[in-house]
Amino acid sequence: MSFIVAIDGPAGTGKGTITKLVAEELGLINIDTGAMYRCVTLDMINKRISLDNIDEINELLSKIKIDIKNIDGNLRFLLNGIDVTIDIRTQKVNDLVSQVSHIPEVRINMVNLQRKMAEGKMVIMEGRDIGTNVFPNADVKIYLDATTEERAKRRYKQEQKNGSDITYEEVLKNVIFRDENDKNSNIAPLKQADDAVLVDTTELTIEQVRKKVISIIKEKIDG
Ligand code: C5P
Repeated sequence: MSFIVAIDGPAGTGKGTITKLVAEELGLINIDTGAMYRCVTLDMINKRISLDNIDEINELLSKIKIDIKNIDGNLRFLLNGIDVTIDIRTQKVNDLVSQVSHIPEVRINMVNLQRKMAEGKMVIMEGRDIGTNVFPNADVKIYLDATTEERAKRRYKQEQKNGSDITYEEVLKNVIFRDENDKNSNIAPLKQADDAVLVDTTELTIEQVRKKVISIIKEKIDG
């Protein structure tokens, strides 16, 4: 028997932070699907494969190995056996990942892998299309949102903490670009599932969002 909590929403809504906290508290396996698309993107960059070279993309997908390891609550991502946890967060990957994730072959492959990873397990899976496409019958569906400016502000702070010299304007531009790409995609566009609970995090602290999400999940479990 599996139990699936789907957490969807655009970039900068705190999905990663909240998912990690809730996974630890409720003992759920944490699966970050955005990081999986980032791994494919990094592999394509490393192998210099262009977005329209479907033959080479298919060849890459047939061989790719993505593993998620949880080390003391922190996720580590292995691409073909190599730890790429840091490398998948670079600007180069940020700029390409949205386009890569909307290549039909890439999405079909990753969605299959995501379903396999959750088989028979208790998981919390975060992404853009988990409640709408990957697990339309998920036990709990939550959609996190916040204003564009607030999300860019959060991403900018994160970048600064990581020592990046990117400007706020550049971060904002990337957030807007990815939103557009994610929402207007023909396949699995980013949108709130009809039966998802919306949590607007604009004015909330991480602690407040954590509490809200935990209570939504517990309410579902208790019926
Ligand atoms: O969550 P994160 O920002 O790491 O995701 C990177 C990108 O991967 C998103 O901008 C989106 O284009 C794509 N993505 C997706 N479907 C998912 C998760 C991420 O298309 N389930």
